[in-house]
Amino acid sequence: MTKDWFPTIDSGRCKKDCYICINFCPHKVYAKEKNITLVSKPDKCISGCNNCKKICPEKAISFISARQIDIDGMKIGINGLDDAFSKYPDNFDAAYEEIKKHNYIPKDIENKFREAVRMEFDR
Ligand code: SF4
Ligand code: SF4
Repeated sequence: MTKDWFPTIDSGRCKKDCYICINFCPHKVYAKEKNITLVSKPDKCISGCNNCKKICPEKAISFISARQIDIDGMKIGINGLDDAFSKYPDNFDAAYEEIKKHNYIPKDIENKFREAVRMEFDR
């Protein structure tokens, strides 16, 4: 079953030297990788909890318009997908550029990430 409640991080707002949410969440949902905070275990998040959102000083954590896509069995949360699609309903490239501003996309899965977003756009 795909989990439908988990945080996403706006990478444009998140501060690289901050560890607040990582240290705060008792379920270890967050992790730091190469100085970037990731939602590494979305399935561990407790439905209805939004305590980490309240304590983020940069207001970078969101539960709104979060979507999860599956890439080779790895579940990835995407921030702002619906907002980008509404802003550019007829222009996938512009919508994708908008999504890139708010998500950290690991280089090694960039093409697969784009494909998965494209599939959502074409639905
Ligand atoms: S608390 Fe906010 S700014 Fe700090 S690491 Fe978490 S998401 Fe980033
Ligand atoms: S909502 Fe609660 S359980 Fe989920 S990541 Fe934040 S603090 Fe952890």
